[in-house]
Amino acid sequence: MKAVILGSGYAGLTVAHRIREYSKDIEVQIISKSKLVRENTIFPLLLTDEVKVEDTEFDAKEAMEKKGVNFVEADVEDILLESNEVKTSKGTFDYDYLFIALGGGYEENFEKLPGHEFAFMHHTLDGFLGLKKALYEAEEGSKIFVGNAAASPIEGPSYQVALISEYILRKRGIKDREIYLATQSPKGVFGILPFDWVSDKANKYFEKRGIKILRGKYVKEVKKDKVVLNDGTEVYADVKSILPTLSAPEVVKKSGLELVNNFVKVELPSFKARKNVYALGDSAMGMVPAKTARSAMVSAENAVASFLKDVKDIYLPMYSQGVLCIMEGGDDSGILRFDKNSKEVKVFLDFGKNYVLFKKIYSKMLVNSAFNLKYHASLTI
Ligand SMILES: Cc1cc2nc3c(=O)[nH]c(=O)nc-3n(C[C@H](O)[C@H](O)[C@H](O)COP(=O)(O)OP(=O)(O)OC[C@H]3O[C@@H](n4cnc5c(N)ncnc54)[C@H](O)[C@@H]3O)c2cc1C
Repeated sequence: MKAVILGSGYAGLTVAHRIREYSKDIEVQIISKSKLVRENTIFPLLLTDEVKVEDTEFDAKEAMEKKGVNFVEADVEDILLESNEVKTSKGTFDYDYLFIALGGGYEENFEKLPGHEFAFMHHTLDGFLGLKKALYEAEEGSKIFVGNAAASPIEGPSYQVALISEYILRKRGIKDREIYLATQSPKGVFGILPFDWVSDKANKYFEKRGIKILRGKYVKEVKKDKVVLNDGTEVYADVKSILPTLSAPEVVKKSGLELVNNFVKVELPSFKARKNVYALGDSAMGMVPAKTARSAMVSAENAVASFLKDVKDIYLPMYSQGVLCIMEGGDDSGILRFDKNSKEVKVFLDFGKNYVLFKKIYSKMLVNSAFNLKYHASLTI
């Protein structure tokens, strides 16, 4: 029995750890671009030097090979569902079960945004390092724009970049500054949640920090000195940082798996796309629209529970996906939690200095364990 995992991010590594925890005899192989993996949810703290690049990274090949998991560093080029094979830059590999955990098509979609070369993308390491340099070079009168393109189901990083930009310019003594944050929802910050009090409280906090919220707006085009929004509004900005439209990556989209809104259609809560194929994390549809590391890990836990039930008759719990966003904001921070199963709903929003410390501790635990963390605070189904 051979399980092949494509991708070594939050979802892919969680699958490998969990299969190994319950079975030593299933052959497990990971195929991923690079053995160097980064814990990217902590990237906003690179802007303030609260973490260093080396604090965010680990060698996934070394960590997984200690557990008897084979790690192939290769580019996945084609997923051949009919023959149960995967074509890569290092040859073709066969599988009995396939776990697709290739993340979202961030880079390829960013390149489709007209004028993207005039903006940073606050997703990659390079994007954050470029943005950091620009924020430290910004002068009196600087205007900073942060936002998302259409259908971009992760606004949390944009909230953090807006807050940290305000902090950096304030600490640098730049008095004449304008920070714009575009939110796709007309309700503003966290507007996708069905609770008006959450958006009201969050909007007030951002406005108190001097951030101008552009509600119900997304980026259509970037120009050298401005961004053009969905309603034609033009916002002049010296520094522009944007997250693109999100979808499954091309290599997944062309595999022939059925798609919903450009993500792989799966059965929930098992994340099964076909009898022997699971699609996870940022590549797949989910129980909530937000695409997060926490949801990616939950999708992996549920897929392994379904897989081990099928092949080993082992019964493990499954979890619901929710939203947990810890907002790093320079000298202050915030937390939003939304979780729901058939019995209960949990909603919590607060701002305070200490939440960022939780995030730093959690991030360290993720890096030190090569993403082998069972505690994701999600409700069981
Ligand atoms: C700045 C920032 C802050 C964030 N903050 C949070 C947060 O606070 N909380 C939260 O829960 N989420 C957060 N997220 C979202 C989170 O990072 C993503 O949702 C998460 O990375 C998705 O995990 P994944 O396993 O699906 O994909 P990824 O982690 O993207 O992993 C995909 C893997 O596939 C590999 N791969 C891709 N294409 C190929 C290919 N063709 N061939 C071989 N390998 C390939 C990649 O190298 C990688 O190993 C944040 C994201 C950003 C950018």
